[in-house]
Amino acid sequence: MTTPVDLPTRNWCETATLARPERSYAVAGADGIAELLTAHPGSRVQVLGSRFSYPTLIDGTDAIALHLRSAGPRVIRLDRDAVTVTADCTLTEVWEHVRDWGLTLPVCPPVITEQTVAGALGTGTHAQGLGEGLLADAVLAVAYVGADGAEHEVTADDEEYGAFLLHLGSLGVLTRVTLAVRPNSRYHCAKYTTSGGELREGFAAWNRRSTQVKAWWWVEEDRAHVWEVRPLGSPGSPDPSGSSDLQGPQGSHRVADGATAAHSDAPHTDLNPILEATRARLGDDTGEHDDDAAPQRTVGRFFDYSDTTGDLVEIFRNGIPAPQINMEVGVPLDRFDEAAVALARVITASPFRMHYPVILRPTGPSRAWLSSAFGREVVWFGFVVYQRPDGSVPDGSVELLGEIQRELAALGGLPHWGKYFDADLFDLTALPRFEEFRTVRSRLDPQGRFLSPQVADLLRHRPVRPATAG
Ligand SMILES: Cc1cc2nc3c(=O)[nH]c(=O)nc-3n(C[C@H](O)[C@H](O)[C@H](O)COP(=O)(O)OP(=O)(O)OC[C@H]3O[C@@H](n4cnc5c(N)ncnc54)[C@H](O)[C@@H]3O)c2cc1C
Repeated sequence: MTTPVDLPTRNWCETATLARPERSYAVAGADGIAELLTAHPGSRVQVLGSRFSYPTLIDGTDAIALHLRSAGPRVIRLDRDAVTVTADCTLTEVWEHVRDWGLTLPVCPPVITEQTVAGALGTGTHAQGLGEGLLADAVLAVAYVGADGAEHEVTADDEEYGAFLLHLGSLGVLTRVTLAVRPNSRYHCAKYTTSGGELREGFAAWNRRSTQVKAWWWVEEDRAHVWEVRPLGSPGSPDPSGSSDLQGPQGSHRVADGATAAHSDAPHTDLNPILEATRARLGDDTGEHDDDAAPQRTVGRFFDYSDTTGDLVEIFRNGIPAPQINMEVGVPLDRFDEAAVALARVITASPFRMHYPVILRPTGPSRAWLSSAFGREVVWFGFVVYQRPDGSVPDGSVELLGEIQRELAALGGLPHWGKYFDADLFDLTALPRFEEFRTVRSRLDPQGRFLSPQVADLLRHRPVRPATAG
């Protein structure tokens, strides 16, 4: 039985309305979903997870809003190789549960893990590491209730598997997901700061020698802060006792041509002046100067940085959610240098100064048809513009995001579907399996019960607005 209850109708940071309370429903399990579909035969269904996606993607104000609220334990089964969870299980619950058994997922966690598993698959949620694709690439099987009201299971042997790995909520209601697991292990994260030139020269090579690399690039200051992560005890990282074979005479070692880093717990203060300036600018733009405010804390994390050790969750799950316009474009790794040059040009030319460094996260090829990473290595270029308490953003910021998208699209870049983007600027049909996705979607849901106007628009072929000259 489905019953309207007190359900969230706004996005995660309460800046946009997504659903009407009188048309919002909590359902548990396949039977509940089928019952809801039958009870509202003419209605479109907007499935909502933790509502972290950019609001236009999850706008259900024209639909009935479905919140999956599974009864009973959300982790259904765990064995040595796989974990099966309900689709509304959060990534936090998955990672914490398997960790208690000495296991982990075979991919790095994203910076926050409050997303639901189904929601994370919905938009192509990812972290970093050329040896991994998206979170979705850990998926072994997906169960869903389709527009026909029946529950189905899809595995890698099924034709539509790659469509479900980034489904945009448009294929049905996911009910269960089985993900691969492997033994958990510990890593060393070497942190260093280098120049933009060294970043451009070294980034691809650093990604080959380390399992995960993430960087934050202050373009105008010409500084890049880099985290290189390797299994503890592997060449180039300290052994498990903590002593490093790379320890230099002054407690420092060269981690990249021209880039020096310390393998010690001693804090590094070289980035602090840039962090102070970033915080001041951010405070002026948002009116929030309190160092304890979420946007300020995201910058504050880098003060006095030092190497760390831990499992991948401990190292990478450090996001501080703050109201923001969050944009990410996946550009082929082999075009990284061109992208970096283009970015530096438009960012420097813009009157708006970024609130946060450009975030760089490379991933390996994915099997998700709609991902920019489908079948190729990409670098995800991430951008954050913090919003003021009233949801507004500084003058020039959205224009700069537009310029950035034009430049990265011209290099084969494609957007993260769960974040802000202007679809007119990208050739989404360049995705090799775009047409197959459309075909699978039409076959599974011919009446478009799960197809929002926004997603329908995205899936239509559209012209690309060319880059501006210069
Ligand atoms: C602060 C912040 C940090 C972030 N960090 C990262 C990051 O590190 N890496 C990254 O890649 N992304 C990141 N994101 C984006 C985020 O991971 C995605 O937007 C993700 O899709 C959100 O999951 P959700 O549970 O909130 O789903 P929602 O946003 O609620 O929904 C996403 C999609 O999934 C569909 N959906 C949800 N549940 C179901 C279901 N049961 N069946 C069928 N469809 C369903 C929805 O219809 C929608 O299409 C971040 C976003 C924010 C705001």
